[in-house]
Amino acid sequence: MPGQPRPFLGIYFSCCNVYSRIYKNAAGTAYVGWCPRCMKRIEAKVGKGGSGTDQRFFIAR
Ligand SMILES: [Zn+2]
Repeated sequence: MPGQPRPFLGIYFSCCNVYSRIYKNAAGTAYVGWCPRCMKRIEAKVGKGGSGTDQRFFIAR
């Protein structure tokens, strides 16, 4: 929806020591993104019912 802020997750890419953000996918089931330096793909499932991740900060290994 235009004008609506997209939910994002703060991400620290330990591969390149860089901080970035990843955004929810179209289905809303996970946050997906890429390391801005080496383009490594990261995916963090959206938490539901206490399982998965719903934290606002995430470290990619
Ligand atoms: Zn990287």
